[in-house]
Formats: sequence, structure tokens, C-alpha cells
Amino acid sequence: DLVLGIETSCDDTSVALVDQNGQIAAIETVSQYEVHSEFGGVYPELASRAHLEAILPTIETVMAQAGAGRLELRAIGVTRGPGLMGSLLVGLSTAQALSMAWDLPCYGINHLRGHIRSVDLEEKRLTYPALVMLVSGGHTLLAYLQDQHSYELLGTTRDDSVGECYDKVARTLGLGMPGGPAIDRMAASGTARIKFPRPMIHSGYEFSFSGLKSSVARYVETHPEFVIDDVAASFVDACLDVLGAKLRRAIAQKRPASLAVVGGVAASRQLRAHMQQISEETGVSLCLPPQKWATDNAAMIALATWDYIAQNAPQELDPKPNLRLVDA
Ligand code: ATP
Ligand code: FE
Repeated sequence: DLVLGIETSCDDTSVALVDQNGQIAAIETVSQYEVHSEFGGVYPELASRAHLEAILPTIETVMAQAGAGRLELRAIGVTRGPGLMGSLLVGLSTAQALSMAWDLPCYGINHLRGHIRSVDLEEKRLTYPALVMLVSGGHTLLAYLQDQHSYELLGTTRDDSVGECYDKVARTLGLGMPGGPAIDRMAASGTARIKFPRPMIHSGYEFSFSGLKSSVARYVETHPEFVIDDVAASFVDACLDVLGAKLRRAIAQKRPASLAVVGGVAASRQLRAHMQQISEETGVSLCLPPQKWATDNAAMIALATWDYIAQNAPQELDPKPNLRLVDA
């Protein structure tokens, strides 16, 4: 049995077929990179139009890849939020139409819960109680999961997300978009010799990154001779210091069995290495998504759908652009 997962919350049209154990039978992701690159960000009107063009061919491709038909499908799962209203609507209405045509149940999935489930793709990793850090384009948060179904939000960001900060620093350095991977690459060959601020490092579980971002911009303005690699390395060092400090604090207080780090920035090799170090230091096992499934994809949405099926969750298909982690 397979679940057909559909993800259109932002600028990627992604469709996947995934079984109950997180094995991916087929997946196809159409990126809108070229549509948005000239705007330096995602342009919502163009995003929904590009989703509309891509969605049906992508579904056909995935079904053909897996050699699957309606009979192999158990349900459809589609992201209902958070995300861009117009983009969400394309996925939701397509999923709803298919579910009627094929007489299949259809679940509206919380994208953030999808990111958390990305660690169990291809191989089961997560054990409970778990400490989860989500570092993505739109979110930076720490949560504690006593078990698979009880979410406690420990802290979130007061301003920018880490991913946003990576992207903006990349723009400041003239690295183009998507900025995260470029910063990650540059930082690997630089030296962290500039002391950027570490906002809120000494207090609780809340984050703040806009001060760090402005501090990098100010440095670049006032040091025309700046070395890109070193600025990138110093910026990454500041980010990882802050994230690491909060994690250590939460591990000491919550004593989780495992630590999951998810979201697009969890694709960063440096972040992954830093988390590995924290895991070894604290003895808490580390669960990372396979690198290519850290950023948005439909496989994580399909795997999360199996949880909704198991819980007999209501099939809610109205878009929720501001859906939170603690919402169903
Ligand atoms: P959300 O999930 O919060 O709604 P989103 O879906 O837009 O936001 P993701 O796809 O999870 O975000 O993550 C995108 C972010 O990850 C971008 O900010 C991007 O720069 C960053 N990112 C992607 N790859 C890397 C990498 N290798 N190193 C660092 N950052 C990365
Ligand atoms: Fe995402």
C-alpha cells in the first residue's frame, strides 16, 4: 500500500509515493527556481501559476515511475499549511479532485509535521521522547515530543528564521539564491575569525536572528576588503553557536532519548557535523533526515499522512497559510 503525497506550499511542486515504513516508491519535484530568481525571492502569483502547470504531469510521472495505479493507493495526503495561500490551493484542489475521482480518503497535512517525519524516510530513526529542532526557510523552533502525538513548543524565533538569515546574508555577499547551500559551501573553506553577535544565546529557548543579519551587512559595508569565505564561516559559526547552546540547554532540562534536526537548513553539512558533535557530547542519539529530504519534498508529507490515517484524523482540506506546529 502506498500514500500519494502532494506538496505545493511554497515554490516546489513535489509528488511522491511512500509506504508505511517510509520507503519511497517514486518521487518527482519540479523546482520553480528559474521563475523566481530574477525577483530575489518567491513571487506568490507566479508560484501558483507554475504549480498549476506542473502538478498534473508530475502526478502522472510519479504514478508511471512506480508502475502504480489507483489500486495500490491507500490515501492521498496534501499540505494544507503553513504556506502561500495560492500555492496551497493548487495542491489541495488537485488532491480533492483526485480523491473524488479515485474514491480515496484525502488528508490535509501540516507541513511542519511533515518536516519532522522526514527523519524516518528510507530508515526509521526517531525514538521518543524526542527533542526536535526545526530550522527551515519560514521557521526556527524547538519542540519536545513526549510521544509521536504530543507536541510541546519550547521556543521559536522573534524575528527572522535561520534559513531566511542564510538567504539574506547570501544576498549581502552577492551569492544569489538559493542562498543556504552557497553559504554552506563558502563557509567550508573560510575561517571564523570575525566575532559576530550571538543573539539571545544565554537565555531560554527563544531565538532572534535579525541582529546577526544586520551585523553581517554592516561588516561588509565597512570592510570593502572582506573575504567572502571568512564572512560566511564566521556567520555560520555564530548561528551554530546559538542553535547549539539552546539545544544543550533543552537536552539538560528535558533529557530526551533522541534529537531530531529537520528543515532545509538541516541539509547544511556544517550544521550536521555540529549536531553530531552535540550528540556525542551529550549521549543523545541524533536523527537527521537524509540530506536530500531536508528541504521541501512530498515524501515527508506522504509519510506524515500515514500518521493521520493511523489516528483516524479528520480530513480537513481548507488551506491554512498560518498553521502552527501544535495545530493538527
Ligand atoms: P517552512 O518549512 O518553514 O515553511 P520552507 O519550506 O520554505 O519553510 P525549507 O524548504 O524547509 O523551507 O528550507 C529552505 C531553507 O533551507 C532556505 O532558507 C535555504 O536557504 C535553506 N537551505 C537549503 N539547503 C541548505 C544548505 N545546504 N545549507 C544551509 N541552508 C540550506
Ligand atoms: Fe518547508
